Amino acid sequence: MSTTELPPAIRIRDLVKRYAPAGKAPAKEALKGVSFDVPQGQIFGLLGPNGAGKSTLINILAGLVNKTGGSAEIWGFDIDADPRNAKRSIGIVPQEIVFDPFFTPFEVLENQAGLYGVPKAARRSLELLGQVHLADKANAYARTLSGGMKRRLLIAKAMVHTPPVLVLDEPTAGVDVELRRQLWELVSELNHHGVTVVLTTHYLEEAEQLCNRIAIINHGELIANKPTRELVEMAREKIVVLTLDREVTELPSHPAFLKCAKVGDHGLEVTFDKDRTNAGEILSQIQGQGFGIVDVTTREADLEDVFVHLTSSAAA
Ligand code: ADP
Ligand code: MG
Repeated sequence: MSTTELPPAIRIRDLVKRYAPAGKAPAKEALKGVSFDVPQGQIFGLLGPNGAGKSTLINILAGLVNKTGGSAEIWGFDIDADPRNAKRSIGIVPQEIVFDPFFTPFEVLENQAGLYGVPKAARRSLELLGQVHLADKANAYARTLSGGMKRRLLIAKAMVHTPPVLVLDEPTAGVDVELRRQLWELVSELNHHGVTVVLTTHYLEEAEQLCNRIAIINHGELIANKPTRELVEMAREKIVVLTLDREVTELPSHPAFLKCAKVGDHGLEVTFDKDRTNAGEILSQIQGQGFGIVDVTTREADLEDVFVHLTSSAAA
């Protein structure tokens, strides 16, 4: 059976969350009717800038935040109608690291297994510690672990009840390059063993390297949901910003210019596909059209540009 015929690991429909005003914080609509499926067997990226609503969505799935409207199913279990089975089907690695510093990694996992009602004989705390490369720390105090070890322990903790779906909320925020690589490897290993993985991140590059599919959320709205390859195509753009020796009265044009826009009187912003041409060619074209170039800078299209691109094409 192909992936498309399997029911989704997670199914979200018209999910709405309005936070009530509290103290000085005003009411906030953090999710404005979000719908998407996470296919089984994938590493699925939920990408979006800070404040987009990623953690709110994850915390609704985890049963930590009450939704205002819409529905969610995990592994076919509705979180309202069948919260027990929904909860059993998902493991959540939260954004914040919280541990009781006086428990050892082994005890952390045993306690969590107890909470989930995993019978003693079915527990696999040592095996899990091995999987996250913490076997030698089984009996160390949690407070003596490095930040990276704590993150890995949190992943093991999320897996004690062997859920088919693992969700990681910003696993690599504020994490160094080496640890990030380790975490990516670990996530890939788990996925190879059949676990469907959802991870939230605000790094396009991370989602790009790891995920089969990426959904982008911005201001509580889903603005894209595509195979990674297609999304990355949209970030191929590079922008050259020019200051010219005279006022631009007529915009220069060329097939290599994806976009050309005036910035003030003497400025020009030209967007091009970095796989097809380069900044040098763009400069020659502009000079060929009779302009002198006073100053030039280039920048890569980033997530922000992809957002702009997507939101403007959605509006068109
Ligand atoms: P992300 O994880 O993408 O950074 P969040 O889901 O944490 O985004 O936040 C989405 C929006 O909801 C933000 O504007 C945030 O300030 C607001 N928000 C999050 N949690 C609460 C809360 N408990 N009460 C009020 N507003 C909240
Ligand atoms: Mg968050």
